Amino acid sequence: MTATNIERTRVLGAPVDALTMDLALERAIELAKDRRKLSYVVAINPEKTFALRQNPELAQFVEGADLALPDGIGVVWASRLLNGRKIERVPGADLAEAVCARSGVEGLNLFFYGAKEESSAAAVEELRRRYPDARVVGRRNGYVKTEEMEALTREIADLGADVLLVALGSPRQERWIRDFAARTGVGLCLGVGGTLDTWAGTVKRAPIAWQKLNLEWFYRLLKQPSRFWRCRRLLYYVVEVVARFVFLKPFTHKTSGK
Ligand code: UDP
Repeated sequence: MTATNIERTRVLGAPVDALTMDLALERAIELAKDRRKLSYVVAINPEKTFALRQNPELAQFVEGADLALPDGIGVVWASRLLNGRKIERVPGADLAEAVCARSGVEGLNLFFYGAKEESSAAAVEELRRRYPDARVVGRRNGYVKTEEMEALTREIADLGADVLLVALGSPRQERWIRDFAARTGVGLCLGVGGTLDTWAGTVKRAPIAWQKLNLEWFYRLLKQPSRFWRCRRLLYYVVEVVARFVFLKPFTHKTSGK
């Protein structure tokens, strides 16, 4: 399968692309280089799957994504159980980092928008430390007033950004990308949620061992118990997957090309 021919599947109604990290990275770079059109990437996890059902605007936006990443392990398991299809997990945070890491060689200019001022500054510093040749052309915290939005989009355009990482949390970042990103002239927009906070170290990402055991969601819950209410959706997701697997399996095998 080539990067331009990626199969789009459906997992509990949400669009999910059958990807590997290499394929996603290759495609993201291809899209970033084509600034004639704005392309964008969304990350699909159980929480987003439920949000799509309740928010038609968000659902429409997600349908139009150029890449829909299997971001959560729940989505990967649901795909196996319900569609009989093995897909690889491609976390949005990992893809974002990989794109930044390649920006030097590929000549792609990066702009970061989102997170609190200290997090935004520390995240960019950390990124530069990890990848000294990353081409960061600018950054702005995520608390820009509506009346300053025009100036922000103009600044991003004037800096010649190719890749815009938007870290406003969901669905705020999706709404922003829909309403403003086309004005920036970037080729690729990545909605990265709380990723800048983890790069900055204000929120710790799970240690590699936890990530390998697919327990990143659990680690996050332990570290940020305030997320518990949001995480209840994980439980609903598991219940729905098991119920569908047991009772409805023959009707749920749906895939479509993209
Ligand atoms: N945020 C922002 N502007 C806002 C509201 C939130 O920049 O008006 C940032 C916030 O500082 C945090 C991120 O958005 O860095 C939200 O992260 P969260 O973990 O909630 O996002 P998720 O990954 O769950 O979508």
